[in-house]
Amino acid sequence: MNVKVAYFSMEIALDPSIPTYSGGLGVLAGDTIRAAADLKVPMVAVSLLHRRGYFQQRLDERGRQTEGSAKWAPSELLQELSERVAVTIEGREVHLRAWRYDVQGGAGGVVPVYLLDTDLSENDEWDRALTDHLYGGDDYYRLCQEVVLGIGGVRMLRALGQHDIHRFHLNEGHAALLTLELLDEAARAAGRTTFVREDADTVHEQCVFTTHTPVPAGHDKFPLDLVARVLQRDEIKEMQDIFCHDGLVNMTALALKLSAYVNGVAKRHAEVSRLMFAEYTIDSITNGVHVRTWTSAPFAAVFDRHMPMWREDSFSLRYAYGIPNQEIWDAHGEAKSRLIAHINERLATKLKPGVFTLGFARRAAAYKRADLLLHDIERLKAITVSTGPLQVVYAGKAHPRDSDGKNLIARIFELREALKGHVEIVYLPDYDWQLGALVTAGVDVWLNTPRPPMEASGTSGMKAALNGVPSLSILDGWWSEGCIEGRTGWAIDPGPVDDDDRTDADAAALYDKLENVVMPLFYNNRKGFIDVMLQAIALNGSFFNSHRVVLQYVSKAYLF
Ligand SMILES: *Cc1c(COP(=O)(O)O)cnc(C)c1O
Repeated sequence: MNVKVAYFSMEIALDPSIPTYSGGLGVLAGDTIRAAADLKVPMVAVSLLHRRGYFQQRLDERGRQTEGSAKWAPSELLQELSERVAVTIEGREVHLRAWRYDVQGGAGGVVPVYLLDTDLSENDEWDRALTDHLYGGDDYYRLCQEVVLGIGGVRMLRALGQHDIHRFHLNEGHAALLTLELLDEAARAAGRTTFVREDADTVHEQCVFTTHTPVPAGHDKFPLDLVARVLQRDEIKEMQDIFCHDGLVNMTALALKLSAYVNGVAKRHAEVSRLMFAEYTIDSITNGVHVRTWTSAPFAAVFDRHMPMWREDSFSLRYAYGIPNQEIWDAHGEAKSRLIAHINERLATKLKPGVFTLGFARRAAAYKRADLLLHDIERLKAITVSTGPLQVVYAGKAHPRDSDGKNLIARIFELREALKGHVEIVYLPDYDWQLGALVTAGVDVWLNTPRPPMEASGTSGMKAALNGVPSLSILDGWWSEGCIEGRTGWAIDPGPVDDDDRTDADAAALYDKLENVVMPLFYNNRKGFIDVMLQAIALNGSFFNSHRVVLQYVSKAYLF
C-alpha cells in the first residue's frame, strides 16, 4: 500500500506496563495499531505521554473509590527523540518533545508511536504538567492538551521528516484541532499567510474520522471565548460554520466537517450518529479486538494445534469448528482456574471452579448499569435455588469526577452484602489491561447491560468470544450484530418498552434468560454449552477482530 496513515488518539494502550489509556477507546486504538503492524499497513501514530497515567483505583471496604497516580518510567520503556517543536497557548510558546514506542507486528511490520511530552525546562510549571493526566483537569486543561495533540502532533510528525502522510485518522474528536494545522499548511502551500475557506477542501481530502460516542453529551465541546483565548486565531470566530456547532467549538462537528470519510463503530451506532448529525454521510466499521493480544495462553495452545496460522491471520478462527469439545472445555477450565486462583489469593475469597461464573468488567459509567443483574435480589436468590449456584466477578473504574459512576460501585458493594450466602460476588480493584485479559477469558459467560442506544460498540465481549466465553447481553452496540440467539450467546431482550420502564423490563428479561436458558445449559447440558463456546470463537472471533477492522479502513477510508 502506497498510502501512509497518521493515526491520532488521546489514549492508546501500548503495553500493560504503560498506563496511557483509560478503557475501551485506548484499547481499541492499541489493537488497531497492532493489527496495522501485523498487516504491514504504513502507519505512524500520535498520542500524549500521560506521565501520570489515568489513575490507580483504590476501593475501601464499602466500595468508595479514591484515586492515586499511576506511576511508570517513560525512559525505561520508550526512546526519547531529540526533535523539538512548539505550540502557542494563550500567547505562550509551549515546547514539546516526543518519545517513540515501536509496535511490532507478527510478520516484521512496525508502527512507530510518538507520545508528546511538554515536561521540558523551557516551559513554565503549569505547561510542564500538560501531558501528565489522561482526562484530568478542567475544560481549559483539556483544551490545551488537545492543542498539543492536534497541532503539536502534526508539527512533530513534520519535524520527524514525515511529509508523505496521505491520511490523518482522527480516533474520536480529541485530535480535531489537527485540522487547524493542516489548514495552515494548505494556506502556506498556496502562498498565503492565513487560510481561507477553500483550504478546507484540501484538508477534507486528508482526514478520516471515527466517532465513538452515541450521545451529544459525550462530545468534546468548548466555549468559543475559551478557544479564542487559548488559540488567539481570528479565523475561528470568522468561520464559525466550520468550527462551531450550536455556538460552541464542537470537536465532533469540526472533525465531521473536515473529514472525507466518517464512521461509527458498529452498525447501530452509525444509525444513531446519523440521527444526531443528519447532514453527514456516516458509514460504519464495527470494532474488533486484536486476536493475539486477547487470546489466553490455554486457548493459544489449542489454536496452535488446530489452526497454526491463527496468529498471522485472524480469519483462521473460522476453523475453530474442528476443535474437539474436550479440548475447548479443558482450555476454558485452565483459564477459569487461573482467574479464580488470582481472585482468591488477592481478595481472600472462596470462589469455586465448578460454579457458574458471570463476568462484568468495564468503566463504571451509569449507562453501563453494572447493577442491573442485582436489580431484584430476591429473584436472583430464587434462580440459584432453581438452577444451581452462581458467582459474579466485577471490576471497573469510575472517572474521578463521575459521582454517579462512583455511587454505582458502592451500590454493588452494598448488594454484595445483601446477597452473602446466596450469590458470591467479588469486585476486583484497579481494572486494567491485564485484569481485562484474565477476566474476559476466565468466566463462563460475559454479561453486558448498557442502556440502549448508549453503547457505541463495546469490545470486551469480543475478547471473551476469542476464549470461548459467550455473551449474555443487551442488544446494543456490537452485540446487535454478534448475537445469534442460542448459538454465539444470548440476548437480553424485553421487546419494545418505554424508556421509563426499561430497567425493570431489562432486568426481568435478564433473569428469565439466565434461569430458563443459560444456567440450565451450563449445568445440565455440557455438550450444548460447549457448542455455544465453539461458535462464539468460530463465528464471532473470526469476524470481530482488528485485522478485519484495519482491512476495512484500508479499503473504505485509506485508499478511497
Ligand atoms: C476491553 C477493555 C474495555 C472495554 O470495555 P467495554 O465495556 O466492552 O467497552 C475497557 N477497559 C479495559 C481495561 C479493557 O481491556
